[in-house]
Amino acid sequence: MLNFPKKTLEFIKRHLRRQQREVEKNLKEVEEDDPVKSPSLAESSEPGTDSYLADTHAKTIVLGQQLKNAKTSILVALTKIKKGTYGKCEKCGMKIEIGRLMIMPTAQYCIACSKKTLKIRN
Ligand SMILES: [Zn+2]
Repeated sequence: MLNFPKKTLEFIKRHLRRQQREVEKNLKEVEEDDPVKSPSLAESSEPGTDSYLADTHAKTIVLGQQLKNAKTSILVALTKIKKGTYGKCEKCGMKIEIGRLMIMPTAQYCIACSKKTLKIRN
């Protein structure tokens, strides 16, 4: 059990819920913008429309996936708060810096570990 000041945890929870609402809203908008799902756009037969549709559809899928990932990390963070395991680094098990969590409440790694992960990726 990691001890966070109640006020800090409340702030983070509010931040997460706000993010969650935004992601849900964006996800809905992205799905509505998908030309494949919108018959009026898909029926238009202007030249070049096909590639435009394919392009937009591909972008929609990428964006939708990003939003779904964000949604998942928000849910994971909220569940951890409930369980009392929030703020623990998934790699080294140390406490994640509070300043980092305030800015990025879905952070799963402490600063040191996330830097290491970045280095491996590069
Ligand atoms: Zn760590």
